[in-house]
Amino acid sequence: MNKIEHIGIAVKDITAANETYTKLLGKPPYKSEKVESESVETSFFQTGESKIELLQATSADSAIAKYLEKRGEGIHHIAFATDDIEKEVARLIAEGFQPISATPKRGADNKLVFFFHPKSANGVLIELCQEITK
Ligand code: ZN
Repeated sequence: MNKIEHIGIAVKDITAANETYTKLLGKPPYKSEKVESESVETSFFQTGESKIELLQATSADSAIAKYLEKRGEGIHHIAFATDDIEKEVARLIAEGFQPISATPKRGADNKLVFFFHPKSANGVLIELCQEITK
């Protein structure tokens, strides 16, 4: 497991949140992207070695919509970078962490992503991600 790649923040209004985080970080997002498979709209801010990912639901049945309904806006997940996502996923499953899906899938920002249930990690949703290089 390498650095903290990004911290994901669930927001109700990504346009307003983009303005807030542009002020906070002193620069605009370097990327905005819709991930149809997850029904989310995202934007990414670079902050040093790590990033901030804002997430807004694009449909009422998306995971982010359900999260906002239950817990309101706030930190949604922490993502760790890995060079070998298959190996890290296997390691964590062997350690007893509860996976959310069967295999890594394509997420935002040109990454393969995989999630572990918050129950496994003291209430924090854990994302592993690996840059897609080809
Ligand atoms: Zn993420």
